[in-house]
Amino acid sequence: MQHNAPVGDAFSEEQKQYLQGFLSAVLARGGATAAPAPAPAPGAADTFVAGPEAIHRAAQDRAIAAGGKLVPEEEAKRRKNPFDMWDEMAANGAAGRFPKGTDVFLHKFHGLFYVAPAENAFMCRLRIPNGILSAAQLRGLAEIAEIYCGGFADVTTRANLQLRGIQPPHAQSVLMAIDELGLTSRGAGADNIRNITGSPTAGIDAQELIDTRPLCRALHHYILNHRELYGLPRKFNIAFDGGGKVSVLADTNDIGFAAVRIGAGKSVEPGVYFRVGLGGITGHGDFARDCGILLKPEECVRAAAAMVRVFIDHGDRTDRKKARLKYLLDKWGLDRFLAEAETHFGTPFRRVPVEECEKRGPEVKGAHIGVHGQKQQNLNYIGVVLPVGRIDAARMRGLSEVASRFGSGALRLTVWQNLLISDVPDERVGAALDAIAALGLGTVASGVRSGLVACTGNTGCKFALGDTKSHALTLADALEARVTLDRPINIHLTGCPHSCAQHLIGDIGLLATKIDAGEESVDGYHISVGGSAGAERKLAREIYPAVPFPEVPKLVGSMLAAYLAKRRAGESFHDFVVRHEIDDLKHLISQNDLAA
Ligand code: SF4
Repeated sequence: MQHNAPVGDAFSEEQKQYLQGFLSAVLARGGATAAPAPAPAPGAADTFVAGPEAIHRAAQDRAIAAGGKLVPEEEAKRRKNPFDMWDEMAANGAAGRFPKGTDVFLHKFHGLFYVAPAENAFMCRLRIPNGILSAAQLRGLAEIAEIYCGGFADVTTRANLQLRGIQPPHAQSVLMAIDELGLTSRGAGADNIRNITGSPTAGIDAQELIDTRPLCRALHHYILNHRELYGLPRKFNIAFDGGGKVSVLADTNDIGFAAVRIGAGKSVEPGVYFRVGLGGITGHGDFARDCGILLKPEECVRAAAAMVRVFIDHGDRTDRKKARLKYLLDKWGLDRFLAEAETHFGTPFRRVPVEECEKRGPEVKGAHIGVHGQKQQNLNYIGVVLPVGRIDAARMRGLSEVASRFGSGALRLTVWQNLLISDVPDERVGAALDAIAALGLGTVASGVRSGLVACTGNTGCKFALGDTKSHALTLADALEARVTLDRPINIHLTGCPHSCAQHLIGDIGLLATKIDAGEESVDGYHISVGGSAGAERKLAREIYPAVPFPEVPKLVGSMLAAYLAKRRAGESFHDFVVRHEIDDLKHLISQNDLAA
């Protein structure tokens, strides 16, 4: 890691001096600059809590009064406000110490994840509303990645970025540098509302019904400025789907706002509204359920806050496995949940049957890759393939340069772990593609690599049962050598049942497992097929349990070969597997067995 690399143009002279001065001071003093960590206050668990966040204490008290026992994470939040830890974090950084015990959890409120034993380092996750950042911001993040981190970033399945390999003396430097770029990591982990996702082609998609950027931005800042919206019973995901061609997977969120058009002669005024899906969590086998209400765009932030407020009051604080919104909805039903939310919203919700809404335009698989015309005449966006989302600092700078030189300087991250460069004039598309190719990056939508999604895996996540990112790349290499696809396909690899890579909505989903092999165990995957979100929403069905990874490329290759040999004209892989029973599929696959 470089400690004294020059800081680039994304920072002002003053900022450069500040960043380098802070780091030099920490290093020169041998990591012993700050005061020792304050001892926890006696009786802290009973500290009086005033202000808006008192609603959390009241919810905990109710859980205890009902005979429940708070989980350790709730006890930790009760003992110490995570946003009162700055001095303690400085002391740890100066001493070169990582946090211990439940302080590891509390650091995640700052977006800092101590990821041992996978890696003895912090990971920092940002918040990037609607996944859109500027060229200057990406260039600045490249500098931060090189100076303080592992020299790369990962695009996440929430259209966000993560920086890895951060040592304790640099943790606060990373937070400060991110802030100076106009970004934040506050609330990016732990029991908080995660990055607000929106349609990646917002504002440039001829098919969209509404531009989601102002809504994502408004909700992002609403959360940042309402301290009672931190420390929920569990994490919480919210997405806005503007109706464009590139899916944002809204129905996999706790709250998915999906734009719809209402025509004339219906029970409400014609116009564009949002339908609301609640309780999506595909790792637990559920898509968001339509709750039968329509919101005007300007009502969405207030409605989200009202619904989160119900979750704060009534989510389970005694069992982490049952603490997500889905379980409250399962227990109460939609009607009771909506009635409670209305008390916070202030007026009754507008209940409208889904049949009154016009059908949404299609989500186009692969529209996040390659060159696509925008709704603005003569302008295009270019989707760049970033296999499994990893991008090194040199390419971060290179793509910033491409966005500035050929586009408007905007870069749009997607939930498909890649990015789009928008606003490229027709006559500059060729040169932009050449510049992207010169970075060693592709822009072609065919093949398996464009729809390859992998969670962090065991190089950076303690829950992982396999190295999902490197397995994904090995799998892609092997498949590209064996089969040629003419339609995009999604392959999702996820390292544990938390399913950050949402294996159950992949055309092919792989869930890591360990397989006994005598006295040892080997890495393997449970393989599922036929998953999808959106209009084709369907959870994948398991076809092959516990396949050792060395056998996976051949087996998946045979699955694709069977599809190519037996599909109907124009049939997608999804439709192909959905129209077959699992045993029939296995038979077809065995008939198209590829050589090892
Ligand atoms: Fe970690 Fe599991 Fe999420 Fe993968 S799915 S990043 S292993 S928690």
